[in-house]
Amino acid sequence: MEFRHLLFGIALATGACTAGAPPLDSSVQGPVGSACTTSSAKLSFDFEAASFARCVIEGEREFSVLVAPEHRPPINPSPWYAFRYEARAGGELTVHLRYLASQHRYVPKWTDGTERRQLIVETSEDGTTATMQLPPGRATVSAQEIFDSGDYEEALERWAQGPLARRFVLGSSHDRRPIGAVRLGFADAPRLVLLLGRQHPPEVTGAIAMESFVDQIAALLAADPQMGKRYQFLVIPLLNPDGVARGNWRANLGGKDINRDWGEFSQPETQAIKGWLDALPAGVRPALMLDFHSTHRNLFYVQGDEASERQEQFLGAWLQGKENSLPGYIFSIERRNANPGSGTAKNWFHQAYGIPAYTYEVADDADRMAIRQAAAVFARGLPGALEVLER
Ligand SMILES: [Zn+2]
Repeated sequence: MEFRHLLFGIALATGACTAGAPPLDSSVQGPVGSACTTSSAKLSFDFEAASFARCVIEGEREFSVLVAPEHRPPINPSPWYAFRYEARAGGELTVHLRYLASQHRYVPKWTDGTERRQLIVETSEDGTTATMQLPPGRATVSAQEIFDSGDYEEALERWAQGPLARRFVLGSSHDRRPIGAVRLGFADAPRLVLLLGRQHPPEVTGAIAMESFVDQIAALLAADPQMGKRYQFLVIPLLNPDGVARGNWRANLGGKDINRDWGEFSQPETQAIKGWLDALPAGVRPALMLDFHSTHRNLFYVQGDEASERQEQFLGAWLQGKENSLPGYIFSIERRNANPGSGTAKNWFHQAYGIPAYTYEVADDADRMAIRQAAAVFARGLPGALEVLER
């Protein structure tokens, strides 16, 4: 059975659905403004990062949200959801998350714009339904805290204030959203460190780590301009702006996992970076690539057998031995042999430039302050470790 029909069938079976067939193909524009309204409450999906979800009215104060991916399975089980609600006084709202093609993964994050907290859910035995109670009022509920284009705009603007910083646009997405970048350091600094983020839309904890990491790099450069003569950093924090805006689980608007497109370069987002790299001055060479993501645990995917001795020394100088030393942030180092043609940034940068290229994975539920502090420690340790690559 086609997934579209599966989802539609469930929607019909569950009762009054306010919308028609769900948008599972990429021809549908934007988060669709579907909503469920009763006389005492309303659920809406009309903002950036809202999910593709559809809602079902189960009762005056009871709704189901159908959590469905942007394309039919197989897809990574990162079931993003985000909705806002308004409810009159008179009791809590009950909302069931009903997962299609996945199981409950993300603890709901609730905010009324002032206060933030995590919600307790009751999950069904098979994990396909999670039920929460919501206080009356107005608030947003999302799989992870929302970190959207407005947040990136603020971060890019802040980084661009640095003495050696320049902000620019590398290209644009399928939906003509800019792929924004900041270069920190001098344009002719010979060693280039690439920092990539948000290839995968739900991976907000990776975005939190990246923001703190780049803040720290910017501070180091401000304190030591000599560093900016030797090293420049290309920061591209939002590689998949369409996916983030639409609440995708994985893909860009081309229906492609961008982190499987390095080498093929079939998508505008990866093409934009490839074009910039190809135009680098002859004296500038990539030295390191870090790609920020999220998964179930804190870890770094690093090169396996293919790592050179010098790259091993870099790893030793930067990360090894620190796995249990950071408060609230235990991590592991996972060696993964290059899988030719895998299309990941990690493997492509290693193969194309012979440099350390790591995937920086942050646990979904890692303590947010610990994420930031650990990222700052990693950033402060980076210049010294980079020296090892120069030997
Ligand atoms: Zn990822």
